[in-house]
Amino acid sequence: MSDNNLEKIRHSLSHLMASAVWQMFPQAKFAIGPVIENGFYYDFDLPRNLTLDDLPKIEKKMRELLKQDIKFERLKISVEKAKEVFKNQPYKIELLEEITAQGKVGSSDPTKTTSEDVAVPGDTVTVYRSAKFIDLCAGPHVDSTKEINPDAFRLTKIAGAYWRGDEKNKMLQRIYGVAFNTKKELDAYLKKQEEIELRDHRILNKDLHFYSITDEIGAGLVIWHPHGSLIRGLIEDFWKKEHAKRGYQYCYTPHIGHYSLWVKSGHTSFYQENMYPPMVLENTKYQIKPMNCLYHVQIFKSDMRSYKDLPIKYCELGTVYRYEKAGTLHGLLRVRSITQDDAHIFCRPDQVEEEVIKVLELAFLMLKNFGFKKFEICLSTRDQKNKEKYLGSDEIWQKAEKALENALKKKKLKFKVDPGEAVFYGPKIDIKIFDSLGRGWQGPTIQVDFNFPEKFDLNYIDDKGNKQKVVMIHRTVLGAMERFMGNLMEEYAGAFPIWLSPIQVSIINVGKAHRKYCEQLGKKLKDEGIRIDLDLVNETVPYRVRKAEKQKVPYILVIGDKEKKGKSLNVRLRGQKQMKKMTIRSFIEKVKKEIRDKK
Ligand code: ZN
Repeated sequence: MSDNNLEKIRHSLSHLMASAVWQMFPQAKFAIGPVIENGFYYDFDLPRNLTLDDLPKIEKKMRELLKQDIKFERLKISVEKAKEVFKNQPYKIELLEEITAQGKVGSSDPTKTTSEDVAVPGDTVTVYRSAKFIDLCAGPHVDSTKEINPDAFRLTKIAGAYWRGDEKNKMLQRIYGVAFNTKKELDAYLKKQEEIELRDHRILNKDLHFYSITDEIGAGLVIWHPHGSLIRGLIEDFWKKEHAKRGYQYCYTPHIGHYSLWVKSGHTSFYQENMYPPMVLENTKYQIKPMNCLYHVQIFKSDMRSYKDLPIKYCELGTVYRYEKAGTLHGLLRVRSITQDDAHIFCRPDQVEEEVIKVLELAFLMLKNFGFKKFEICLSTRDQKNKEKYLGSDEIWQKAEKALENALKKKKLKFKVDPGEAVFYGPKIDIKIFDSLGRGWQGPTIQVDFNFPEKFDLNYIDDKGNKQKVVMIHRTVLGAMERFMGNLMEEYAGAFPIWLSPIQVSIINVGKAHRKYCEQLGKKLKDEGIRIDLDLVNETVPYRVRKAEKQKVPYILVIGDKEKKGKSLNVRLRGQKQMKKMTIRSFIEKVKKEIRDKK
């Protein structure tokens, strides 16, 4: 069956859901009910709040309607007639008023623009009738409810939604549903959703305690607890080491600076709505930084640069602050304090290609180390028809775009070109990372910039002694530390590889008599650089094993008489029921090797 048909099914189900809700609440007021990815929704104004218990009841009524072979009838009626039909439906009336006022095409469904809109020339609108239920609607719909598989849909959730998405309007109740052609497809979808929910980093964090976001501190501002800090620190150490190997120089810069700096850079005109408001001290305005770039620019400018010095690469895990709307914040994935794994490369125009290749190599090395294997690469170039929109000469744009393209081709990477998607100051490469559930996340970005070198007069002296403008490359390879940590928590379902596990080995004693031996064993492992937790409290062994399992500790050692006497270990591996017998020495070697190999 075609996707088009599936859209018809989903849209028809949205009408049937409205019809079922109407049976339950004859006084219901109807807003809009469009098709969305995987399903549909409808917004209602109802006399009481819905609960999840209502959904199976509504579904049941929908199935009864499906059985009745109800036809979807398309009718063209005059706006005046429609106002009569919908006289008790204020939201529909509002849409109709709009159609009359505009005197042109409107749609009851703002997310859809089809050729068949609700208004047709001559002041008529289209409505769909299914049994007694009539809706202002552009269609298309199935001909009959017989075409819909009653086992292949499900109502999934209820949410609040403002009429027309405007918070000044009334809050309505939205019911979401999903629908497919077959029950098998529905089941597969629901199973995947379940998996996504199980892996939700906010849920996992309840046992792992990696971070918190509190009302006392503020929305979107992350505080890292010891275990989360430890992992982040290990990733950062790895990051710093790989960057140092490639000639990057690490820098530290302050979190605030003169507001005037951001006026000069242009941020206050094109980026203001994402910035925190400035603060005033001794009659001077200061700005908390939304980006690290300008500080690195100052370091570059602190000395004369010769063509032989280039490229110069400054890197910093710099926390920046951006105002993200409260409604868009989401655990670690969308925050207001964002630590960018940032770097700025100052180079000659002829070095862009080579530098981009190196950034790509570094980015893939880092990401593959964390198990990410699927990527989507996009090259954003200039809109050829609107060249005046962009800063920088024709020549330099052509060169830079060619350099990015060549770099991708030389690395034999598949990419798509998005003409017109470049920022006004230069072309860029965006890499989307896909996790094991097939979800895409924003990953590395490589942005060429002709603007700052111009604005801040960033020069070098060429081999003939002349001043030339550098090219600046902004890049991140992980994206942002907060989001990346959230991605990793979900990708690993909390079970981090051993090199990143906050506790690598948990040691549990069976009884008092084994305490001392556990402490000695613990010391031995610690001396070998292994992170251990001695859990010698007065709780049952199964309780403490469960506790360690919840924290996703890779290895658990339970020490009793046998182990103490035989100087051997029964090792419990994460996620496995079976225990493995090993000598202490071979266990230590095994763990150390796995840490070294970042397994
Ligand atoms: Zn930058």
